Amino acid sequence: MLCQAGRTIKSVLSFCYDRMVEKGEDILNTAIKKLYDVQELDQEVQSLKKKKEQIKEDPEREELKKRLSRTEEALSEDEKTLARTVKELHRKELDLQQTSEKKEEIRRKLYDGSVTSMKEMEKMTRMNEELDEKEDDLENSILTLMMTVEEKEESVGLLKKEVKELGKKFEEDEKQAEKEMQQIDQALMAMPEKKEEMYKSIPKELVDRYEEVSKRRQEKPVALVKNKVCTGCRVGISVFVMRELKKGDRPIQCESCGRILYLENEQEREKAGEEG
Ligand SMILES: [Zn+2]
Repeated sequence: MLCQAGRTIKSVLSFCYDRMVEKGEDILNTAIKKLYDVQELDQEVQSLKKKKEQIKEDPEREELKKRLSRTEEALSEDEKTLARTVKELHRKELDLQQTSEKKEEIRRKLYDGSVTSMKEMEKMTRMNEELDEKEDDLENSILTLMMTVEEKEESVGLLKKEVKELGKKFEEDEKQAEKEMQQIDQALMAMPEKKEEMYKSIPKELVDRYEEVSKRRQEKPVALVKNKVCTGCRVGISVFVMRELKKGDRPIQCESCGRILYLENEQEREKAGEEG
């Protein structure tokens, strides 16, 4: 009777179940179990690809990169300010030196008796006072500039240290990520061959069906049956389909989602036989 059913279905599905039917339902179930293993391999491929994406776009590494870039910018700004301030300081120091020399010259003229005119004397005294004021201003500016130079030298030092540390950490993280992604790539590269190897022990028609459902549904073409429910779509399976499933002489697909149904163990098999 089983052989007859097998042949009828064979003609409909163009699926050679003779061997399976002769040896009993376990053969089909074993084949579907293998298909389920293939599905797990496919899932592993998906999760590895996802993991690779996560490593590629790791937010912590992105944040570190931004922090490094911000610190480099701050360092560059401070270095520019420092260079500008040092230049300004040198200019003011030179100005101060020239002012002092000018003052010295005036003082010499005022006291060596070479200036005799009263008017000229007053003019030079006024100039001397102006130079005194300028000297004071310059000394104050120089003091402020020296303080700025000191401040900026300190912050440039600290920022340089931070850039070095962040750069080192970022480089290490990049290397680690690169290494992990390479390992994933290697694992992914081995997958197609592994899948082909698994396919070899599964009847071609079943493989084709798996591929077809996979294309249509994109994911998990095989669904476990638990408590008479398809775990793929969570829809209850009818008594008729459960009976067909238990018979095990042809692959059965879920009426609701089209996934290939798989009775994993004896317990579920028992339930399949129950009415209602
Ligand atoms: Zn379903």
